[in-house]
Amino acid sequence: GNLISPAENTWCPGCGNFSIEHMMKSALAELAESKGIPLEKFVIVGGIGCHGKLTDYLNVNSFYAIHGRAIPLATGIKLANPDLHVICFVGDGDTYAEGLDHLVFAAKRNADITVIVHDNRVYGLTTGQYTPTSPYGFKGRSTPDGITERPINPLELMLVSGATFVSRGYTKKLKPLKQTFKDAILHEGFSFVEVLQICATYFNLTDCYNDQVYDLEGIDTTDFDQALAKAREWDYTSLARIPLGTFYDRKMPVFGEKFRHLEKRTRSRDEAVRAVLEEYR
Ligand code: SF4
Repeated sequence: GNLISPAENTWCPGCGNFSIEHMMKSALAELAESKGIPLEKFVIVGGIGCHGKLTDYLNVNSFYAIHGRAIPLATGIKLANPDLHVICFVGDGDTYAEGLDHLVFAAKRNADITVIVHDNRVYGLTTGQYTPTSPYGFKGRSTPDGITERPINPLELMLVSGATFVSRGYTKKLKPLKQTFKDAILHEGFSFVEVLQICATYFNLTDCYNDQVYDLEGIDTTDFDQALAKAREWDYTSLARIPLGTFYDRKMPVFGEKFRHLEKRTRSRDEAVRAVLEEYR
């Protein structure tokens, strides 16, 4: 298959979204080759923001969601077609603000989807307003005097919500980014990839990130407490070092699994509900 779409690209020169696009194309091609996954088994769902244009630029089955709603759509697609690999591309405004409830509940349920957040820490498409991950003091179009709120830490949030795969990449570190994409797609259960994405036009943090990032090494990715401690190393404002890589990777029952096997051995809906309650006792 051919992953290259004829759509004209309208991202600004130097935008980190190019890295995400190219590394995802390469990851999908390699998974198709090495794991024998046909390209038509990948489905991408995009949110609203500059990132959402990926649904046009990647030539695989895709769905363009409304603001903040990519995740419930992706969960539905996966439940109806369990043999598909469903990947959400969402933004930090899109999913940490408008769609936060969906993100938390997909993690809590261990929905078997992959969520990739293009976290440029600003609303780029609407020209520079602050988002939930903008640093303390950020001056944007809607906040010329600087914000006085603390940013959320998405990795910490995802760990405590129940995500079974949590990682962080950076759009200037291409090879690890591609590896993270492949690991997340192959993970059974809810996989979350926070990508520090450069917005070349409204919030270019290249110099800060280049100084602060380092690769996580030698951690036990099945140890929740260790993952949480690493996630807390950087608070999205300080000059502390920023770990990149996989923080957490555990295998747990996925959303829908129990229901499918119970459906087969029960006749009525009431029986199925009783059986589910029995199983959870
Ligand atoms: Fe990329 Fe920022 Fe331009 Fe949007 S506004 S295309 S995020 S550089």
